[in-house]
Amino acid sequence: MKCIHCKGEMKRGTAPFHVDRNGCHVLLDAIPAWVCTQCGEAYFEGNEVDTIQDIIRSIEEKSKAFAVSA
Ligand SMILES: [Zn+2]
Repeated sequence: MKCIHCKGEMKRGTAPFHVDRNGCHVLLDAIPAWVCTQCGEAYFEGNEVDTIQDIIRSIEEKSKAFAVSA
């Protein structure tokens, strides 16, 4: 697997991911990912992307409770 940015070698590792929704900041510290050994670009695979999207959906849903009604 090659990096699409610099054509560097990709290795299995972990990468952080930051989610910011409705005033909620969630930092996922170490998600399994392919990480470029040259530029550090991270790619998440299907399973991880699904989980991240699940988390984002949950945050969007649950954080509605904090919404200020006008
Ligand atoms: Zn790269």
